[in-house]
Amino acid sequence: MPWCEECARYFTPNSVEADGSCPTCGDTIQLPDGAEPTNDESSPWHFKLMVVAVTGYLGWRVVELFI
Ligand SMILES: [Zn+2]
Repeated sequence: MPWCEECARYFTPNSVEADGSCPTCGDTIQLPDGAEPTNDESSPWHFKLMVVAVTGYLGWRVVELFI
């Protein structure tokens, strides 16, 4: 979803100007995912936390089977 920081609001892709600028203030609008730099190589911390939690939970279930 295109986002204008100047106006602090979202725009539908159809409502932005043809050159990708804001129809209200004329600022260049941030493009949706893919245009902004993201570090895809490293997982976000909450994903790692979820993996740890699931692993711990499943590990505990296995332990429970034997006690
Ligand atoms: Zn704007």
